[in-house]
Amino acid sequence: MNERMDGKSAVHDESELHCANHPKRSTKVSCSSCGKPICPECMVFGPVGVKCRECASHARSATRAGKPSQFAGSVLYGLGASVLGSMAIIAIMSAMPYAGFLSFFIYIGYGYAVGEAVARGAKGNRGPAFMAIAGGCAALGLIPMLGGGLFGLLFIGLAVWVAASRLSG
Ligand SMILES: [Zn+2]
Ligand SMILES: [Zn+2]
Repeated sequence: MNERMDGKSAVHDESELHCANHPKRSTKVSCSSCGKPICPECMVFGPVGVKCRECASHARSATRAGKPSQFAGSVLYGLGASVLGSMAIIAIMSAMPYAGFLSFFIYIGYGYAVGEAVARGAKGNRGPAFMAIAGGCAALGLIPMLGGGLFGLLFIGLAVWVAASRLSG
């Protein structure tokens, strides 16, 4: 792999690499994605390690766009969780009609579960589109709870917010 640089790096020892963008700078770090050597100025620190600017921007745009399978998966998982969660809430509420303050936690738990399911379906992807899916799924599952007055609406909003914020970033 060092062959193409031999003309310039003949003097240096084998372990020393030179930045792909700045041939005069030596470095010991290479891109975790494409493997080309990068100097500190060219490094981008991401969740999966150090990358060159090109690979980092590729990864980011791919994440933003989202693959069809990720959308399909997140909708499927989100709807599944919202249906199950909705049935769970109805069961809990009918068992404890005066859950009162507890229902606050029930709705937060529901939002969290839906957000988690959507995140799982999205296979690590995030962003506004997935936030919308999570929020939409959470809201759909809570339609049967719409009769709960102002507090009910607040709790529904809370659950939707919890679900959506799981997919932010
Ligand atoms: Zn790279
Ligand atoms: Zn550089």
